[in-house]
Amino acid sequence: MPYSYLSHLRCSKTGEIHDADQPQQLSRVGAPLLASYDLEALKQDWRPADLLGRPASLWRYHELLPVRDPAQVVTLGEGFTPLLPLPKLGKQIGIPDLWMKDESIIPTGSFKARGAAVGLSRARELGIAHFAMPTNGNAGAAWALYGARAGLRSTIVMPQAAPAITRLETSLAGARLYLVDGLISDAGRQVAQAVAEQSLFDASTLKEPYRIEGKKTMGLEIAEQFGWTLPDVILYPTGGGVGLIGIYKALRELQELGWVKGDLPRLVAVQSSGCAPIVQAWQQGASESTFWPDSQTLAFGINVPKALGDFLVLDALYSTDGCAIAVDDRAIQSEIRQLASQEGSFVCPEGAAAFAAARQLRESGWIKEGERVVVLNTGAGIKYPDAITVVPQRLRRDGRIPA
Ligand SMILES: *Cc1c(COP(=O)(O)O)cnc(C)c1O
Repeated sequence: MPYSYLSHLRCSKTGEIHDADQPQQLSRVGAPLLASYDLEALKQDWRPADLLGRPASLWRYHELLPVRDPAQVVTLGEGFTPLLPLPKLGKQIGIPDLWMKDESIIPTGSFKARGAAVGLSRARELGIAHFAMPTNGNAGAAWALYGARAGLRSTIVMPQAAPAITRLETSLAGARLYLVDGLISDAGRQVAQAVAEQSLFDASTLKEPYRIEGKKTMGLEIAEQFGWTLPDVILYPTGGGVGLIGIYKALRELQELGWVKGDLPRLVAVQSSGCAPIVQAWQQGASESTFWPDSQTLAFGINVPKALGDFLVLDALYSTDGCAIAVDDRAIQSEIRQLASQEGSFVCPEGAAAFAAARQLRESGWIKEGERVVVLNTGAGIKYPDAITVVPQRLRRDGRIPA
């Protein structure tokens, strides 16, 4: 049995087939390429029971991942993160069957590790030596660190305002790190120019086909951890949207394999009210978003004014009867406090946004009584020491702790 059942790449706009065993960027019409697998053969060869005893990492699903040679796998032990019940918060917000898929304890401190592990393993397999990417911080950190492990050179461009810790991670990993006075879209222009002039491999969001394959494993894990049943609703903090597109892709693949039955979960794209292009498009019933000017939010990972894969995110929302919703920074900060004090979890601002959205959607009745709801906490709160301030208690005048 092959390690991977990858068969080809297809254009997400035209369906045109591209060779998966050559380095590829966008399709011939400039759209993202998506990986296809020989699902008919997999159906014969692969059963859920085959997963028993495999390592607790995303590589347990290697048949449905693009790396052909196990010797090329670059891993820091990523994946198979906890799926935790949140009984106290769930009770408070009227969702007793509330769960958190917790990406805070993954290597590099955010779920970007998934995309980096799979994307870089495949890049190395295809002989790529030097990649470049724009980032809001976490992706650059993950790709630089996994790049160091894989032995690839990396050129990373991020906004000056990106979380300082991600700058450290990127630089310590040995990447060429450049800062721009602007947004991720400005960093993207720098990268596009360098890619063209220095013939680097462009690892920007959805401009190479395999980062999404790493991110889709969140969907595979949720299904497996619920015993191959699916929740009613999944909420995802959406920037470039790769995680949401990936989860949708994973669930469709599992449906085709016959491993899950029934309706797919309603997928929810959560954005910040300071940067909500997908929400705006969804409200208008549009199939694409428009550039969101002067975007701003403390949830840095979802500060993406225009996503290349916006049409794929919107398609996933429409196809699953999902929705898109924006929450403001105050609600995000309040939710960080709720999660820590009630459930002992220090979530990242992006994850907190998704919890705030769950609260609001239950209030409005969009989430119904008794539904099973999964919220993605996409990273560790400790990566964002400036997102929130606390005032310590005061000692007594005599220097002692008050009774
Ligand atoms: C990048 C990022 C997101 C958004 O991910 P996309 O899949 O690009 O939409 C959410 N949360 C965190 C912590 C991130 O770093």
